[in-house]
Amino acid sequence: MSLSSWRPLLAHRVRFCPAPVKNFSATDSPVPPESACYPESNPSGNCTDVQTNAFIGTWRSDQPGAMQAPNLEAFVFPNGTIEACYLNTTLGFPCEQGSVPPIGVDARTVEDIQAGVKFAVDHNLRLVIHNTGHDYLARSVARGSFMIWTHNMKNITASSTFVPEGAPENETYHVLTLDAGVQWHEAYDAAHADGRFILGGITPGGTHGLGVDNVVQFTIVTASGDHLTANSYLNSDLFWAVRGGGGGTYGVVTSVTYRTHENFPLTVTLLNCNLSSPAVKRDILTEYLKLWPGLSDEGWGAYVLMNTPTTLSLYVVSPHVSLADTNATLTPFLDFVRNAQEDAVIQMLPFDEFYSFYSAFFASPDPVEGLNLEIFGRMIPRETFDDRDKMVDVIMSLESVQLLQVAGGQVSQIDPDSAGVNPAWRKAIMLMNAGLTWESGLTGDEYKAIQGKLKDGLALLESLVPGGGDYLNEVRF
Ligand SMILES: Cc1cc2nc3c(=O)[nH]c(=O)nc-3n(C[C@H](O)[C@H](O)[C@H](O)COP(=O)(O)OP(=O)(O)OC[C@H]3O[C@@H](n4cnc5c(N)ncnc54)[C@H](O)[C@@H]3O)c2cc1C
Repeated sequence: MSLSSWRPLLAHRVRFCPAPVKNFSATDSPVPPESACYPESNPSGNCTDVQTNAFIGTWRSDQPGAMQAPNLEAFVFPNGTIEACYLNTTLGFPCEQGSVPPIGVDARTVEDIQAGVKFAVDHNLRLVIHNTGHDYLARSVARGSFMIWTHNMKNITASSTFVPEGAPENETYHVLTLDAGVQWHEAYDAAHADGRFILGGITPGGTHGLGVDNVVQFTIVTASGDHLTANSYLNSDLFWAVRGGGGGTYGVVTSVTYRTHENFPLTVTLLNCNLSSPAVKRDILTEYLKLWPGLSDEGWGAYVLMNTPTTLSLYVVSPHVSLADTNATLTPFLDFVRNAQEDAVIQMLPFDEFYSFYSAFFASPDPVEGLNLEIFGRMIPRETFDDRDKMVDVIMSLESVQLLQVAGGQVSQIDPDSAGVNPAWRKAIMLMNAGLTWESGLTGDEYKAIQGKLKDGLALLESLVPGGGDYLNEVRF
């Protein structure tokens, strides 16, 4: 077993019966994508394609049977036996279906989804909804379940005069309506084409609340098969619940209408350096954590990535702030870093709009995924910063950690009761995540050891924020 410690955040082809269902525009029988490479002597599919692309996030999201982290495609029995289909065919394990649902529908329309829900109800099947397979809690797969795959529902509509159903005619919004399979890169492109900004998964700073704070309407198929509109006027309880209630809990969302916003300038500061000794690491961290609450109040965003114990990468995003003003705010900290670590590389770049920043750093290359990965985290409220030394102690004891300034600012100005999202978001000014990656082919005991290490790490975060909350989408426990 090769454990890569607190790494950041990434037989035969299985056969089963096709779905005995009518009315679907397309049926689909998902398999772990790696199954194309089995049997090794005579691969059943295009194994070269799988081997070439298995670590590319967008390719994985195109495969109905893939999770972004392949360990979530596996199934671990209570006795520790692991059923999986490994990319590495030389490990000597058979290829098995694991947690990948053996049957499903490649939904293209609302009617496909309604038929899928009805089919699952009629046959008493566990139903899972699968989009990109990013869910670290693995809620988008389940052993022996029936899958509704929404990935190919790609319609996007822009409007500058959108009136939510049931609202007064003069209540208009500038919006993008995204069908269930639209991915953020597609939404960013569409907003840009419309000359607007949409709040997606990449922090632009805490200027516009959370994603769910920007939703004005959902359409959703419920367990009864009804296709409902949910907004502040119609089915408002459902509208409240779906904005944070957990993937798949209340129905299959068929579209989401998000407010879009005027573009705004921002400045991005990048810092990369080694952390040549624990003392240097402690000093730099302490100094940055002193700055953090103030930056959060100003609506700044940041990603601090310590992917190994001895390196640090930092992005700070200052929305609506010029290069000169960003420089003035950060110079004392940056000078401190330069003095502590001479090899620090620092850049400060102004952008006229979010899309330019996104294009420069995130649009390509495709994100690296396909790593076995489990993570844990906690949202860190402001009062935790009162004991900064304890925070630094905890961070120092995790070999790799991400500190994400994705809340605070406008997020904390919004009434916690306005949406079903975990209220801990409204108090948080940091999301702290850590995790583990490992190579495939573990024994049950080796996997148990990883789980134990993850739980030990989580206990450290719990000691920092007793009773605290977490971002449900980036958590394993
Ligand atoms: C490597 C990585 C990086 C990430 N980075 C970020 C980030 O920078 N910012 C951020 O905000 N988040 C981030 N996330 C979290 C990610 O946005 C969430 O996990 C999100 O829920 C993924 O949604 P999905 O539909 O694409 O994934 P899926 O795994 O397909 O679905 C996630 C959950 O939503 C349910 N679901 C999917 N579609 C529907 C639907 N139409 N109706 C009802 N339920 C549905 C699924 O059943 C599942 O429970 C990251 C995740 C990973 C793995």
